Amino acid sequence: MPHILKQTSLKKFNTFGIDSVASQLVEVSNNQEIKEAIRLGRELNLTPFILGGGSNVLLTLPSYPFVILNKLKGIKKIAEDDDFVWIKVGAGEVWHDMVLHCIDRGWGGVENLSLIPGTVGAAPMQNIGAYGVEIKDIFESLEAIDLESLEEKDFSNSDCKFGYRESVFKNELKGKYFITSVQLKLAKKHVVNTNYGAISEVLNSEGIGIPTIKQVSDAVIKIRQSKLPDPKDIGNAGSFFKNPVIDVDHFVELKKSYPDLPSYAQPDGRVKVPAGWLIEQCGWKGCKEGEIGVHKNQALVLVNYGQATGDEIANLSSRVKASVMEKFKIEISAEVNII
Ligand SMILES: Cc1cc2nc3c(=O)[nH]c(=O)nc-3n(C[C@H](O)[C@H](O)[C@H](O)COP(=O)(O)OP(=O)(O)OC[C@H]3O[C@@H](n4cnc5c(N)ncnc54)[C@H](O)[C@@H]3O)c2cc1C
Repeated sequence: MPHILKQTSLKKFNTFGIDSVASQLVEVSNNQEIKEAIRLGRELNLTPFILGGGSNVLLTLPSYPFVILNKLKGIKKIAEDDDFVWIKVGAGEVWHDMVLHCIDRGWGGVENLSLIPGTVGAAPMQNIGAYGVEIKDIFESLEAIDLESLEEKDFSNSDCKFGYRESVFKNELKGKYFITSVQLKLAKKHVVNTNYGAISEVLNSEGIGIPTIKQVSDAVIKIRQSKLPDPKDIGNAGSFFKNPVIDVDHFVELKKSYPDLPSYAQPDGRVKVPAGWLIEQCGWKGCKEGEIGVHKNQALVLVNYGQATGDEIANLSSRVKASVMEKFKIEISAEVNII
């Protein structure tokens, strides 16, 4: 039987540091325990809430009746040829530990995704991405348990329907599966991706011409540590909103009033604009209202100064969203899962 804790504060289990309570917190470390936990939840008529590292959730309820904490561990090499290595990783492994494990062994492809918080199992949920790379670029497949039938199922890269901070698990299969392991395909012959401006700037400043994957990882870590607030110091869940994609006509119109509006052309002819820039233009950057606020260096990051409730942050996010709509006629949507 899995380990169950009663009336446990979730404050240290979510990076926003919201002090909600789990009436029952069930730690699972293998598929059998997951199935037992789900059966137990069913007997008690409680819907499980699956929690990984809690770095992409905003807890808005004072208490959650039945929380399953993912502790499935293990990193295994399952195949290799001259060019590639295939690994299978337990969903409860810490993402960054897995990245370092790969870099230590000379397996490339994950280095740009260094230092992203959270677990391996949650990474496909929103197709985590940073510095020009997304998990979909190295993702082979995943295994998951159907929460209804308790059957185990494989999902290929195309089954996951990855998009920008999207997958099938955030849409039509939302709340239907527990992801138990992820398989990645990593390169032995590296082609590093340093196209992202900030990475090449750091490497150039250190006089590194042809970087190793370790040097790219170190550069990414350095940039992230200088740009993003550490949840250990101040509660946050990274980027709260996704960057919106707008029609080209809308973009051309906005550009007349806001010539500095940054933009990224999309393959479908539309234009992605940075949500952080839009929020900053609305005057939110650095604002502080009691226990909540918008980070002083990064307008995309909403913060908990210590004692905020999830509701207060959700309310702030609605006001930020409404002001962007009013000023730019652009709808921004949350990247963070509001639970
Ligand atoms: C400082 C900071 C920086 C960040 N930077 C980035 C970044 O650069 N790029 C990026 O993409 N993200 C970033 N994030 C967001 C976050 O790190 C990722 O989304 C991460 O993958 C979340 O993992 P987690 O284990 O913490 O998920 P959790 O927050 O625990 O869960 C997220 C959602 O997935 C569900 N879930 C979790 N595990 C499973 C599972 N095994 N099976 C089924 N459902 C599950 C949960 O129920 C929840 O709905 C950042 C967050 C922070 C705090």
